[in-house]
Amino acid sequence: MVTIVDARSDHHGALEKACAVLRSGHPVAIPTETVYGLAGDIHAEHAIRRIFEIKGRPASNPLICHVSSIEMACEYVHFDDLALSLANAFWPGPLTLVLPRKMRGAALELASAGLSTLAVRIPQGFSRELIECFGRGLAAPSANISGRVSPTSAVHVQEGLGQRVGLIVDGGTCGIGVESTVVEISECVCALLRPGGLDVSMLERMIGRSIETRSDHTVLKSPGMMASHYAPRARVRLDALEVFPDEALLTFGACSVAGAEAAKSVQNLSVKGSLEEAAARLFDAMLVADRTGATTIAVVPIPLEGLGLAINDRLRRSAAPRIS
Ligand code: AMP
Ligand code: MG
Repeated sequence: MVTIVDARSDHHGALEKACAVLRSGHPVAIPTETVYGLAGDIHAEHAIRRIFEIKGRPASNPLICHVSSIEMACEYVHFDDLALSLANAFWPGPLTLVLPRKMRGAALELASAGLSTLAVRIPQGFSRELIECFGRGLAAPSANISGRVSPTSAVHVQEGLGQRVGLIVDGGTCGIGVESTVVEISECVCALLRPGGLDVSMLERMIGRSIETRSDHTVLKSPGMMASHYAPRARVRLDALEVFPDEALLTFGACSVAGAEAAKSVQNLSVKGSLEEAAARLFDAMLVADRTGATTIAVVPIPLEGLGLAINDRLRRSAAPRIS
């Protein structure tokens, strides 16, 4: 039986219950500002194994270690000057830093897929408070079956994971709605592994130069870099300028689309053309479109700037050929 506790009406109770589950070595689904996470004690081998099992996630895909302070992060990884200045500027927030791993141990080996690096981030809100309460880092990949659409509400988690998780903390809808931006920092050089909730141009402004994108497909640097990911049941058709009657349409801004009146459903990701709003609504809109029974979700072109980079990245992967 899955228990759902509402952190908005019972904040203290939600923290206590989530802490108790973590202490017993089990994962718990929690809200973060990006997407809902399936959180487990990064030092508990059983909890880390369960996260991989529940998600059906390949063991080669490393997890992000969520921490509540830079001091806590320093226990797990080595910071150089660039990493420290980015952490100071953007944490807590949707930026993940992949850094040389310092801490060892069976659970950490599993969580980092045996790599010499570990991804770390300080999240905002309930999840950060939970880590503070718990006192240790939490591995927390998105709380969905591997390869499927990420959850941005407690209902999405429940629908996606069902009875596989014992406790879901409901913190309402995630404010950002796409996963964190992931960068790897090595010898004071920053490379983008995954566009996400932090606008890359803000990072570039802070660093004072442009960031190289690493899309090395031979070494899986980042799970979010797998070709097929974020996949709904329906197929996804990008850059649609017209829509057919058996399709559901995702539109954006004032874009007009031929055939829209006959489509199974029409959802505008942001009527006012805000990429932030579109990012926050994207995964829910994909799930709603899926529920119409449409064979295909047609999506209009989304501007490739700001959070549009993350939106286009998720859409491209959701449209990629499926492995199964
Ligand atoms: P998710 O499952 O959506 O939470 O995504 C987890 C993210 O963790 C991936 O997309 C990667 O970007 C990231 N990650 C974790 N550890 C590493 C690592 N050592 N090297 C590169 N990326 C990592
Ligand atoms: Mg994920």
